[in-house]
Amino acid sequence: MMQSVDIAIIGGGMVGLSLAAAFKDSELRIAVIEAYEPDEVLHELPDTRVSALSRASENILRNLGAWQGIEQRRAAPYQAMEVWEQDSFARIEFNANHLLQQDLGHIVENRVIQLALLEQVKQQSNVALYMSDQCQNMVMGESEAWLTLQSGKSLTAKLVVGADGANSWLRQQQDIPLTHWDYGHSALVANIKTTEPHNGVARQIFTPQGPLAFLPLNDPHMSSIVWSTDPNRADALVKMSAEAFAKNLTVEFDNKLGLCELVGERAAFPLKMRYARDFVTERVALVGDAAHTIHPLAGQGVNLGLLDAASLAEEVLMLWHDGEDIGLKRNLRGYERWRKAEAAKMIAAMQGFKDLFAGNNPAKKLIRGIGMKLAGQLPGAKDEIMKRALGLKGNLPELARAVTK
Ligand SMILES: Cc1cc2nc3c(=O)[nH]c(=O)nc-3n(C[C@H](O)[C@H](O)[C@H](O)COP(=O)(O)OP(=O)(O)OC[C@H]3O[C@@H](n4cnc5c(N)ncnc54)[C@H](O)[C@@H]3O)c2cc1C
Repeated sequence: MMQSVDIAIIGGGMVGLSLAAAFKDSELRIAVIEAYEPDEVLHELPDTRVSALSRASENILRNLGAWQGIEQRRAAPYQAMEVWEQDSFARIEFNANHLLQQDLGHIVENRVIQLALLEQVKQQSNVALYMSDQCQNMVMGESEAWLTLQSGKSLTAKLVVGADGANSWLRQQQDIPLTHWDYGHSALVANIKTTEPHNGVARQIFTPQGPLAFLPLNDPHMSSIVWSTDPNRADALVKMSAEAFAKNLTVEFDNKLGLCELVGERAAFPLKMRYARDFVTERVALVGDAAHTIHPLAGQGVNLGLLDAASLAEEVLMLWHDGEDIGLKRNLRGYERWRKAEAAKMIAAMQGFKDLFAGNNPAKKLIRGIGMKLAGQLPGAKDEIMKRALGLKGNLPELARAVTK
């Protein structure tokens, strides 16, 4: 049977589900098509895929009614951040107290975010979920798109949103060109036990090979690491014995939290910058990793994606209330201009950071040291950097600004 909806969202990950949840108080009929149903059972050991959620993301998730579900499952707030460079005086520290904040953000497993959003979306009578299903075909009509799913079901939608991740099926299906480059890094993720407690501090060291982050988890001796390094080295680090890996990690991290011990699995992901040339085409919009991917060195990927979802919802609701066609490209141009500009700024900032910290050139090292020292001492400079990291600067959608309930 053919179902007719206003918006079909392809991909029910963190970003796609946030978009569906953002229509909770509206009359719009939504379909979410997700290839994999997430396992609801959380294990004692946290998943290795985690995100550092900014205050702006927390605001969005609170406004969507998903934050409680996140806290009930598992979330680790962090109160400080420390960044330094290996073998250098370059070092900077941020503290929540200085900004009159309780914390600087939360480290949350991606699956926890997805499950809490799914719980919320399942309560919405205006959302139809197609789990463990995929889009197989899409045909564009005059006033709607026709979708055929792998299960044989079919849908029509006024707007189809690609929230289907870095290798977006929808982006490829629409032949949307991609600007991309290789970061020359793979990111290795793992859970690590340390002899010293992390004290709720998120830490990152820059080495000539790349950044290594220790993100504090609920257990005071457990951290989730993101180790960005040359792909061949990452591959070797994944394959070596757990003992050899732990020794390498302890040395790379300047012994900052004492001896490291690997707990559970390791995995490495090749890192690539992707930027879709168009975020909208006729009856199609892209959000999250489907539109852009960036280096995880500042932990901003999903934060950017949640802002896309909140912004697109804001624009679509405005069009809907004005009686406009929500699928027309010309009506979605505002969303495209807004989010392309924000994504471009973030891509440039990540590249700048990566280039600045690359290599061992003594002159560059001196500049980095002076830069960090100045940023730490100049009145207002540190607060400015922190407000950016909290996600409270820039052109924000209403859902990210303040918590309304
Ligand atoms: C190592 C690493 C560390 C990171 N750390 C951080 C961090 O600390 N903070 C941060 O903000 N970001 C971080 N990121 C980035 C973040 O993980 C991504 O930006 C985020 O996962 C994007 O969410 P998404 O919902 O857009 O895409 P995804 O999480 O990829 O979700 C896409 C969904 O679509 C589904 N799907 C795909 N194709 C189809 C299809 N054809 N039909 C139906 N469903 C489909 C998939 O099953 C999936 O559920 C990190 C990334 C990496 C690689």
